[in-house]
Amino acid sequence: MNILVSGAGVAGLSLGRDLGMRGHSVTIVERADQLRGNGSPIDVRGDAIDVAQKMGLLSAIRDARIRMTEQVHFVDENGTAVGRLPDDIGDSPDDIEIAREDLARILADALPVTVALRLGESIESVAERDDRVDVGFASGGSEGFDLVLGADGMHSAVRRLVFGPEQNWIRHLGLYVAIADMPGEADAEAERINPMYNSPGLLAGIARFKDRAIGLLMFLSDPVDYDYRDVEAQKNLLFDHFEGCGWKIPAILDAVRADPHLYFDSVSQIHLPTWHRGRFALVGDAAHCASPLAGRGTSLALTGAQFLAEELERSGDDYATAFARYEARQRPYVEFAQGTVAGGGALLVPPTREAIASRNQLLQPVGAGG
Ligand SMILES: Cc1cc2nc3c(=O)[nH]c(=O)nc-3n(C[C@H](O)[C@H](O)[C@H](O)COP(=O)(O)OP(=O)(O)OC[C@H]3O[C@@H](n4cnc5c(N)ncnc54)[C@H](O)[C@@H]3O)c2cc1C
Repeated sequence: MNILVSGAGVAGLSLGRDLGMRGHSVTIVERADQLRGNGSPIDVRGDAIDVAQKMGLLSAIRDARIRMTEQVHFVDENGTAVGRLPDDIGDSPDDIEIAREDLARILADALPVTVALRLGESIESVAERDDRVDVGFASGGSEGFDLVLGADGMHSAVRRLVFGPEQNWIRHLGLYVAIADMPGEADAEAERINPMYNSPGLLAGIARFKDRAIGLLMFLSDPVDYDYRDVEAQKNLLFDHFEGCGWKIPAILDAVRADPHLYFDSVSQIHLPTWHRGRFALVGDAAHCASPLAGRGTSLALTGAQFLAEELERSGDDYATAFARYEARQRPYVEFAQGTVAGGGALLVPPTREAIASRNQLLQPVGAGG
């Protein structure tokens, strides 16, 4: 089949690989003009490890494995540790942590020649016909495809065009998150810990991996009306919430100011009653974002892409059956992942001084066990 994939994140690149290897002709359009590697490292975990194995990419992914600084230490305003997260909150030892740019590179390098990756391109319009979908592109052209797959993230354009506005499907979890590169902090401390600092309704942190450091900011907030693609608007929201705060927040705000590729988004989930309609299907965050609190978005993208490619192979031209089977296999993973987030926000970003103090009671003393 001649298949269009919107988005070249983990879901889109995996679809490209999985579909291309099965003989489909695939075009991936990515709105950004390069593959996006910013943000925090990501985890390949659970059954996604077997998926990577089936893709033939597990050893490359393992070779690029990082261990982001081992422990999260909550600190006070002076940087003195007040405790660390209990051990049972951590990851499984089987999880593979990898920088986003490395996973994107591994997936892109593995695209077969039948896959065309068009950077700086996006879908503007879609019209479903009996035998194809006519797609209009932002660059002006128009082409017909057998299937159109939306792998374009939480703010998916395919979802908007086919299933309606984002506000119908998004569940805001009461937080916003930002990640900025902090080149100046990369080697700043020999001790490999992640310091995190809270003030009421706010979290700031610094983490190091490879030769990089990133600053993390989270704040509690009801949904804010802003253009989610406007980086200056995102930065202003962060300044509004964090200016005048203590610890290393001024340095993190400097990093925010200087970073043209800041990652900023609401901490939200996407819930849709179905992920396919006609010749369209959604994969990854576009279908079922579980939020950064779940830590499973990348693994869900990998499993979903593979299930969809396998089911299309199994069902031949009967894409409707393939879409339904893909959804039946992927739903249990999504429901589990989306269900893991309860309480995570309150633990990381307590709303008041009292709540910070009670959360701190749950922490383990630094230097004790594990
Ligand atoms: C730059 C970036 C940084 C991130 N950082 C973090 C992080 O620090 N922590 C975290 O938990 N999660 C982060 N995420 C989300 C995380 O990557 C996903 O949850 C997970 O990897 C699932 O991936 P996905 O491919 O479904 O979606 P995404 O990773 O969101 O990828 C979607 C891709 O589609 C592209 N796209 C969007 N709209 C269009 C369009 N209209 N046309 C064409 N292409 C489009 C985007 O540029 C992106 O490359 C980040 C996502 C991005 C894009």
